[in-house]
Amino acid sequence: VTDQPSIAYAALKTRCPRCGKGKLYRSLLDIAPACTACGLSFAGHEQGDGPAFMGILIIGALTAIGAAILEIKLAPPFWVQGAIWFPFVIIGSIVSLRWLKAALIAVQYQYRKDDFK
Ligand SMILES: [Zn+2]
Repeated sequence: VTDQPSIAYAALKTRCPRCGKGKLYRSLLDIAPACTACGLSFAGHEQGDGPAFMGILIIGALTAIGAAILEIKLAPPFWVQGAIWFPFVIIGSIVSLRWLKAALIAVQYQYRKDDFK
């Protein structure tokens, strides 16, 4: 199939890995049962805690580095650090988890299409 989207496209746009049109998520973090555009079933994806673990590592590292830089440069009051990083961790975790899950599903589709039948 020539119109199969790239892994990066499917991941960042959180689209179906086969047609690139249907949405992968039915809600913020719930994978839809199947693609609404081409009917590909997403039921075969299996990832466990891989995406969540990677997302926490990335967001945790970014938060630690960012907070350290801010502390060294500006030394703001503690509540300022909290006001910046608390929402960053929440939003960052959700966004990165969506991308990571979508990326892993796209990779899995690319190399193990049999899982999706
Ligand atoms: Zn599709």
